[in-house]
Amino acid sequence: MTAPQPLIAGNWKMNGLTASLAEARAVAEGVGATRARVAICPPAVLIHQMADALAGTPVLVGGQDSHEEEAGAFTGDISAAMLADVGARLVILGHSERRAGYRETDGRVARKVVAALRAGLEPIVCVGETLEERKAGQALAVVTGQVRGSLPSELAGHRFSVAYEPVWAIGTGLTPTTPEIEEMHRAIRATLVESFGPAARAVPILYGGSVKPSNAEEILAADEVGGALVGGASLKASDFLAIVKAAG
Ligand code: PEP
Repeated sequence: MTAPQPLIAGNWKMNGLTASLAEARAVAEGVGATRARVAICPPAVLIHQMADALAGTPVLVGGQDSHEEEAGAFTGDISAAMLADVGARLVILGHSERRAGYRETDGRVARKVVAALRAGLEPIVCVGETLEERKAGQALAVVTGQVRGSLPSELAGHRFSVAYEPVWAIGTGLTPTTPEIEEMHRAIRATLVESFGPAARAVPILYGGSVKPSNAEEILAADEVGGALVGGASLKASDFLAIVKAAG
């Protein structure tokens, strides 16, 4: 079976104003020939304008979260259908900043995934252990448990990806060693195949956590790494493009 097409997705988090659309345009202009799919996930208020700005380019636009209900009395929340309506094609779900800051459980993430699929969005489902869990030797059990709990059976037959993001590596400049990344990605692959059968070999497993131009090549070449979810380094077009280039 051929390796999954890599996905390089930028997570702008709560960064960016309308002036930052210039960075997205610069990504589209510089992306050139690549075997990767490339996406930018800006704050929700920029999605509409970014989707317009990137229309006709290979760069996709995604959201950073969406609610599990289609509509209703959920002040401040955004549904998957709303994201799709303004041009998003993908959505990040279960990011550790949502799991920690908003107490999102695996079950809630799984319900969000179902809603995203219903709206026609491609989910990027995030999993990852804390430093305490890693130090306690629980990283593999925690992460494979999150994969089982956050990925509903409804994903079968749909395009989606899993992002392994060790919480302690996000925004810290720290990264696991390459063998540690490979061990975790192999465990995630085995869990996906257990849940979804051999078709799950085509699911890209992204690595996320302090990916930058200087480490992207080594990380992206690691076994079972099918792309990257990039936070800080996605805010500057030149850095993000260097990471895309490292994907080949
Ligand atoms: C992220 O939060 O998804 C992330 C990977 O952040 P950073 O690249 O800044 O560590």
